[in-house]
Order: sequence, then C-alpha cells, then structure tokens
Amino acid sequence: MSVATQIPPSQPQNQGPLLDFLGLDVLWLQLTGTLCNIACRHCFITCGPKNDSHPMMDTDEVMALLEEGAQRGVKEYYFTGGEPFMHPDVFPIIEKTLQYGPLTILTNGILITDEYAERLAELFRKSPYSLDLRVSLDGVSPEENDPIRGKNTFQKIIDGATRLVNHGLNPIFAVTTVHTDYNEPEGRMRFMDLLKERGFDPPRLKLIPPFKIGREERRGGGYEEDEMLQEGDLLEGEEFMLQCGSCRMVTAKGVYPCPILIEEEGARMGDKLEDGMTPIRLNHPACYTCHVEGFSCRT
Ligand code: SF4
Ligand code: SF4
Repeated sequence: MSVATQIPPSQPQNQGPLLDFLGLDVLWLQLTGTLCNIACRHCFITCGPKNDSHPMMDTDEVMALLEEGAQRGVKEYYFTGGEPFMHPDVFPIIEKTLQYGPLTILTNGILITDEYAERLAELFRKSPYSLDLRVSLDGVSPEENDPIRGKNTFQKIIDGATRLVNHGLNPIFAVTTVHTDYNEPEGRMRFMDLLKERGFDPPRLKLIPPFKIGREERRGGGYEEDEMLQEGDLLEGEEFMLQCGSCRMVTAKGVYPCPILIEEEGARMGDKLEDGMTPIRLNHPACYTCHVEGFSCRT
C-alpha cells in the first residue's frame, strides 16, 4: 500500500512524472560519503581520495539509522561510498546490520586483505542473513579496466576479490558498460569466462549503465536536452521496478531518493529518514537512464 502523497518542498512540482512510494524496503547508507581510495573516470558522484563533499558518516548515527530502519520494516541494506572499507568502524557496523537483514557492500575490492576477508567470512557464518560483496571491475584485462579505474587497479581488484573467494565468499562483479560490447551476449561471455578462469565460480555479474553525471559527464558527455522524463512516460507499476519506489539513501548530509542522485541539485529530501518517506518527481536526467534501461542498483 502506498504512503503519503505529499511532495517534499525542495522538489519542483511541475516537471517529471510523480513516482509513488511503496514503503521503505531498502536502506542505502553512504558510509564514507564521497571519500574513495581511487578516482574512477566514470564515477557519477565524483568520489576520490580528496573529495569530502559528503563526509564520512558518524558511527553512532549509522547505528541509530539501522535501528530506525528496522523499525520502519527495512528488508535489505546496502553500503556504498566512496569506498566503505575506508570507514574505521566498518566491521562493527556490518555486524550490527547483519542482525537486522541481508547486506550488500559495494566496494572496489582493493582494501580487502586476507584479514578483512576472514573477518567478513566469520560475520557471514554467524549471521542468519546473507552478506554479499559487490566488487567493481571494468574489463577483462588491465588494458580495458585501468584507463577507467586507474593504474594497476585491475590486478589489485582481482587480488582483493580472490581473497574473498579463498575465504568462501563469492563476490558479485559490477561492470559499468562503458565498454559497450558488454551489453552484447558475446562481451558478457568474455567476462564470464574470465571470472570462471580465475576461480569465481559460479560467476556473478551485474551490468550497470553509465550515468552521464559527475565525472562520467566529463569523460563520455552529458545528457541531451530531451533525455528527461515527462508526465505520462512511466509504465504502469513502474514504482515496483525502479528502486526509488521502495528505497532511500542516507548520507551524512541527509536523505536522498537513491544512491545515484546524492550530488544532484534539488535531490535532497531532508535531514532525517522520515523526510524521505514520500513520493518523488523523476526530474533528474539520470532518471531517464533508469527508465529506459529498466535499471535498479539492487543486486
Ligand atoms: S566508481 Fe566506486 S570505486 Fe570508483 S571512484 Fe567512484 S566510488 Fe570509488
Ligand atoms: S536516478 Fe533512478 S533510482 Fe534515482 S530517483 Fe531517478 S529513477 Fe529513481
């Protein structure tokens, strides 16, 4: 059943279709804000080692949000950044989250040492819920990946992911389709073959379309003027397909509809989680990508 129909005052009332809010099933936390150990050329929120546009989240606030989320009926949790493993309290936070529900952590894998992999495996063994690590990689070779993610990152990412496998955690590989052949069956098979050869079996792959905002806008170009959703564009029941029909993102700066829009003007919904429990207007160009690609950041 849908909840309130009031639109937050920060959002324009006259542009973009209104998407109903079905209730908070999924809670995203931007644990390290925009701080990341690398600075990928396609990062749609322009994260990097020096970017504190969204600061790191305070541990007590995260713990309180987890409790509030559970009371609101959240069924699934996601951590992202930046790089979540840069948060000094990431392990106690993971442990607490796994008391409430399944958790997916989005990471570039580079900081995953053997010790981290073992601690993650131990937390997973103790939990009644699933723990997924989603590791980002942008090609089957250094030649494909490193121009996007940075020098020597291909090998470092594979090494981190291999440590997870060695401790019994088979990661999901997240591939942004900046190399367009990964949109085709042949390209996907190349990726699956790489993963199988390296011991990631069964191979787990999530393809992500590039969002033409942030650093990706500078790399590959931005949205055209007509790439914007209008009233009447949504399909019947699209709120069940788009993640923002039932998720919200919290950062140290407040509440947002989803993980994609945290740097977009007008997207902030308020200070507290309760401020995000309303329908939203899909009036940002990135919403066009979710709609035409049928895309959701959920695993
Ligand atoms: S895409 Fe991910 S790994 Fe790369 S800079 Fe952005 S947050 Fe960091
Ligand atoms: S960018 Fe996508 S997930 Fe975010 S509000 Fe727009 S349609 Fe929803």
